[in-house]
Amino acid sequence: MTNIHQIRTDWLFDGTGGRARSNMLLTIRNGMFERIEEYRHERVINPSRFTDLSSPATILPPLVDCHVHLAWSASTDQRVRKEQQKGTPDQIRRRIAQHIHHHFIHGILAVRDGGDRAGHGMRHQNNPAPSCEEPVVVKSGPAFCRQGRYGKGIGQPVQEDESPARAFSRFGTRCDHVKVINSGINSLTSYGRETQPQFTLAELRALVRHAHRIRKKVMVHANGREPVRLALEAGCDSLEHGFFMGRDNLRRMADLQTTWVPTVHAIRAMADPTPPRLPGIDPEVAKRTLDHQLEQLALAREFGVRIALGTDAGCPGVLHGEAMVGEIRLFLEAGFPLTTVLRLASIHGARLLGLDHDRGIEPGRPAHFLVVRALPALLPERLTDLQAIYLEGRRRDLKILSSH
Ligand SMILES: [Zn+2]
Repeated sequence: MTNIHQIRTDWLFDGTGGRARSNMLLTIRNGMFERIEEYRHERVINPSRFTDLSSPATILPPLVDCHVHLAWSASTDQRVRKEQQKGTPDQIRRRIAQHIHHHFIHGILAVRDGGDRAGHGMRHQNNPAPSCEEPVVVKSGPAFCRQGRYGKGIGQPVQEDESPARAFSRFGTRCDHVKVINSGINSLTSYGRETQPQFTLAELRALVRHAHRIRKKVMVHANGREPVRLALEAGCDSLEHGFFMGRDNLRRMADLQTTWVPTVHAIRAMADPTPPRLPGIDPEVAKRTLDHQLEQLALAREFGVRIALGTDAGCPGVLHGEAMVGEIRLFLEAGFPLTTVLRLASIHGARLLGLDHDRGIEPGRPAHFLVVRALPALLPERLTDLQAIYLEGRRRDLKILSSH
């Protein structure tokens, strides 16, 4: 027996980047979108299987956060951050479940984990906490840095005489991607300071070749011109952060159609001048760094760089779930229209995570979507107060879920 359900909404963002459409009717059959058209009274097939959400309502596609650290909380207290590295496996599993819940209630139905020292984010996939019931897709994999360089808090250092490809091949295939750290962290005391690449072009190429052979994607953490140039030349799938990469790299990225995940909100959190300040950070330098990244974003838009949104949630001051609102807001500040940002935050992210077949509000796709009880002018802020999430056409009410 077929199961039909129809929904009326005031506004619809379908995730394609086109204009928001008003007064729309969504017809869902057996959990899939069948028709998406303007609402007319006579198009309602069966009034008992019809829901009018217009009170008012805006429908959007589920969001994707392409860069999170599930094992870390957003605490700005250094002691708490150190302690949480040492929790028992059970405590960490529960914390990860809580972070996934926060993503879910903000409409983020897929995340990509950027790593942690002990690989907890990666283990979660095979062994989630019993309390973790949310249908959030988690993509994860090992991360590698050079011995003695930045990155051992995120992944495993590889020795001087070992290549990242060899380290990854020893790891096996139980992962979605491999991450490589190819620069230092952004300096928050000395504006625009660049660091040397951690790996050579040949090493990065060998890693990409091996990863693609076994159908895994490669995400590269890189800031500064040379570390980014090498990552792009090597053929990485996504470039993370990319602070101070410069114009030439932005053009290169547009030519190669490499996805850029700029993690701007994480720097905004550092630029907050109100106490308590984070140790070792000059908020003035953070603010200038943020402005520079927003300029790079505007250039990327002009050049046609493929971008997906990632928040670096779990870094100090960057909350799981909520940070997506801040990330979207900064893209708007950089001059992107809301409808474009929603495409980057949904369909582009889904493609990077290999979920393209499953996302986007169009006929023939699973009926996953978010409902905000507000007009589009109140986005993105009202994402913190979603009314409902529909999964394969079935409603999950957020008012009940958020109290759990
Ligand atoms: Zn990160």
